[in-house]
Amino acid sequence: MGIQNAAAELPAMKSNPKFIFFTDFDGTITLQDSNDFLTDTIGYGKERRRKMNVECLEDRISFRDSFRDMMDSVTKPYSECIQYLVDNIKLDPGFAEFYQWSLENNIPVVVLSSGMEPIIKALLKKLVGPESEKMQVLANNAAPREGKSMDEEGGWEIVFRHPESGFGHDKSICLRQYSSLPDDVRPTMFYAGDGVSDLSAARETDLLFAKKGHDLITYCARENVPFTVFADWTNILAKCKDIVEGKTSVKEAAQQGFEAYKAGAAGI
Ligand SMILES: [Mg+2]
Repeated sequence: MGIQNAAAELPAMKSNPKFIFFTDFDGTITLQDSNDFLTDTIGYGKERRRKMNVECLEDRISFRDSFRDMMDSVTKPYSECIQYLVDNIKLDPGFAEFYQWSLENNIPVVVLSSGMEPIIKALLKKLVGPESEKMQVLANNAAPREGKSMDEEGGWEIVFRHPESGFGHDKSICLRQYSSLPDDVRPTMFYAGDGVSDLSAARETDLLFAKKGHDLITYCARENVPFTVFADWTNILAKCKDIVEGKTSVKEAAQQGFEAYKAGAAGI
């Protein structure tokens, strides 16, 4: 496959964008993490879930295994889980404006999530509206357990996009398809995330937005991964506008982010 074909086969490259915004979904586009919400309220509860997050952050269990453990504790029929989340999960207050701006400026938004695609699409449709269908969603999935139906008690299970990887969905695989494009077509790549599901993406883009006060910052600070802090998508929109309009560079933005962190503005 030639280089030009490689670019042509990446959906987000179809409009020859100068910038692409890759983003986590849960806790990043939404205020609450839908999988944490399921686990905390109708699965085994927050205490064990939080313990699993910390085990993962400290590298004692893979994200994939900790996440399967969480999802196995949620036994409600799948359609009830979706409805329960649609009724409860809220959108970050700045995301709709950011998304509108991205559509007007030829900046494709690609969702890279460790959550489950049917849930993400249902939430995006409810929270963002029909235009959300323009967002590409790459995520894990769910399937019936052997001999069962998704819509019976204990009937479904998580199906990982990359079951051989400890990340379950190794976000770096998608990101490298874009970052390895030749310089004259390679877009500037942004990424936004909040937690342990973003560790496989943290080093792969030009500017990483990490959510104030959340686990991804702990990881980036420990591993010396440059990042800039955001509290909500109004911060991301302001920073992206400055970069797209040439008022600042991604390098400067990352440097400012690191200084904000050192000055104690990262909320950890
Ligand atoms: Mg998240």
